[in-house]
Amino acid sequence: MIGHAERAARFAADDARAHWHDQALWWVRAKRDKAASAVPDWERLRGLASAIKAHTQSRLADYLEEFERNATAAGARVHWARDAEEHNAIVHRILADRGATRLVKSKSMLTEECHLNPYLEARGIEVVDTDLGERIVQLAHEPPSHIVLPAIHRKKEEIGELFHHKLGTAAGLSDPKVLTEAARGHLRERFMRAQAGLTGVNFAVAETGHVVVCTNEGNADMGTSLPPIHIACMGVEKLVPRLADLAVFLRLLARSATGQPTTTYTTHFLGPLRGGELHIVVVDNGRSRLLADETFRRALHCIRCGACMNTCPVFRRSGGYSYAYTIPGPIGSVLAPSVDPRAHASLPFASSLCGSCDDVCPVRIPLHDQLLARRRDAARAGLLSSGKRLGMRLAGMVLRSGFLYLLASRLGKLLGRALPRRILYGRWNVWGRQRELPPLPRESFRDLYRQHRSERRG
Ligand code: SF4
Repeated sequence: MIGHAERAARFAADDARAHWHDQALWWVRAKRDKAASAVPDWERLRGLASAIKAHTQSRLADYLEEFERNATAAGARVHWARDAEEHNAIVHRILADRGATRLVKSKSMLTEECHLNPYLEARGIEVVDTDLGERIVQLAHEPPSHIVLPAIHRKKEEIGELFHHKLGTAAGLSDPKVLTEAARGHLRERFMRAQAGLTGVNFAVAETGHVVVCTNEGNADMGTSLPPIHIACMGVEKLVPRLADLAVFLRLLARSATGQPTTTYTTHFLGPLRGGELHIVVVDNGRSRLLADETFRRALHCIRCGACMNTCPVFRRSGGYSYAYTIPGPIGSVLAPSVDPRAHASLPFASSLCGSCDDVCPVRIPLHDQLLARRRDAARAGLLSSGKRLGMRLAGMVLRSGFLYLLASRLGKLLGRALPRRILYGRWNVWGRQRELPPLPRESFRDLYRQHRSERRG
């Protein structure tokens, strides 16, 4: 089974693309910084969001029941799904019972996680993703490569070519405005003929029984106001207790995701449209297992803003597909091993542990601590490659012994100076393919420290 490093190497082999991807995401990160620093009580908001999440999780069953009571009283139907299979079957049954065969969808990572599209398509239902980025990857038969910017890995020229083949636009188009117009025309027709609309859920409020969906394109609103059936799919972790809690998260979400003060459309759905139906499918799919795990439960605080991906030096240079999991980046590397520890054993190592993800996470998930804990779990479960096991064992021996450490650092300094470049940067030096070693200092820290101390003693 190939791991993250091998898949990342494929992405990084196209140097221009990797560089452009890195810059594009860094631009989003810089916008996030500007937006966050314009809010004077940003750190307090982060603390508050984390506390609200922790409190909700401590009484999750009660709040879920309260949500169901209030949503039902408002006219919605609440369905419970233990796993992806149950979720997909519920959505299919709602559609099949009403003879609906044309579904428009607004972005939902949960339905990606459950592989809903292929499930429904295999049963004769046409599924159209209506978020522009999602539609691009759907037309290209690819999964999203980022949770907020699903087609960030594609250049506008490639999208022009894709639209030419799939939507019949003129060849050679690359103007984003023209391409967006073409997609809008194509989607309008799909909205008009849809028999049902499905959305994800950004937040659900126990106190009121309503769900909140945030988009920048208004596609969730189009998809739920034209057809008579609205299906909203949410993980159990989307719940907040009170309406007042929403304000905290809405202030954090858009600023962290794209640097906007708020998403263009923030829609509150309480009960169905007149004459219509609102179905809310609440999904566990491994979340209560994660909740029971003291080390990793804070990963469930995630509000899917994508900020940890935009800042991560590994994600930016290796692309979302190198993670081979629905949610990539630092949070994906924490979540994926709880689904399949063996298949995703390499992901916790896709991190420099620089802690930048912790710094930007609006709900203060200690991501780098959790990544470290995942590494430890993978090592204990015997899931590391023999090369990594040997390397770690050797490093452990050297770092535990003062003598070996001194010897290794002296030897390293000597070899670093003496070896010719073609040997130093030979095939075996994977690290050296992307960067230069810094010039080795004449004196080590140990030498300087000794010298300083003897000078002070006089
Ligand atoms: S872990 Fe934090 S930064 Fe990453 S997507 Fe979730 S909320 Fe955003």
